[in-house]
Amino acid sequence: MERILREPLETYSTQKTQKFVGNPLANKLRGEYQRLLEEILPDRNRYLVVGSPGKGNWASCPWIAILDSLITDTAQSGYYPVLIFKEDMTGVYLSLNQGVTRVKEYYKRNAKNVLRVIAQDYRAKIEIDNEDLTEIDLASRNNNAKLYEAGNIIAKYYPADNLPTTTELIQDVRRFLNLYEELIFNDTQIDETKNLTALEKKQYRLHFRIERNSNIANKVKQHKGYKCEGCKFTFSSMYGSLGKEFIEAHHLIPISTLNLGNVQVNIETDFAVLCSNCHSMIHRLDDPSNLELLQKIIKDNLT
Ligand SMILES: [Zn+2]
Ligand SMILES: [Zn+2]
Repeated sequence: MERILREPLETYSTQKTQKFVGNPLANKLRGEYQRLLEEILPDRNRYLVVGSPGKGNWASCPWIAILDSLITDTAQSGYYPVLIFKEDMTGVYLSLNQGVTRVKEYYKRNAKNVLRVIAQDYRAKIEIDNEDLTEIDLASRNNNAKLYEAGNIIAKYYPADNLPTTTELIQDVRRFLNLYEELIFNDTQIDETKNLTALEKKQYRLHFRIERNSNIANKVKQHKGYKCEGCKFTFSSMYGSLGKEFIEAHHLIPISTLNLGNVQVNIETDFAVLCSNCHSMIHRLDDPSNLELLQKIIKDNLT
């Protein structure tokens, strides 16, 4: 297990001078190490482990990330725990970090500042230890490495000459997964006027996480189309091409029945597509899964 850390630290710099395509270490970072890391995760179905030695060519700082598949299926956006190696291979960080690609595309030269600000906001939302590092140094001039430094929320450092045991690494990874969970939890807005119990709040957050999963939402829209199932509105009828293919997915399974430990979604039966107004309104119902009631209210008020 600890060879996930040791092998790249010992061999990456040499391998980097070799051909990238078909390189055994590059392949391990994309395959074998991911599987080793998956083995120690508390819920294998929930997490998606992805590793990258670079795309098309060696990365300055290779990484292996653990994504919550309910939130994201890409390391390009969002936040997640990641093992990220220093360019000089003197050590490796376990970092709760942010996907930098989307931020970079959108904010361009401001990306670094934006990532720093967001990291600070996230830090305020989780319980951090005195020993947690808020700054990381990847010993690199590479632009992406600079962005990962800025994106660091908290981290733990493992120097190459003092690597953790397998047990320690497992403990650390699990702790970071808990912080990840805590951050996801605290990062979702809940209507405080509803006086929800702690369990209900968790179920609400799960509901929103399911709906906001872009992967799920896209499949739902492909299946159901773009006409609101509450009021029949289509965004393109009002906004033309701006509104083309815009609609929101709403998870119809009663929130109180959501099983926190075991989430299974059926794209074809578990969702409605709603315009933003209807989506807000259905969430004001006592039972936000009652689409028929929403349709009836709309009908009654039209006449
Ligand atoms: Zn509507
Ligand atoms: Zn909803």
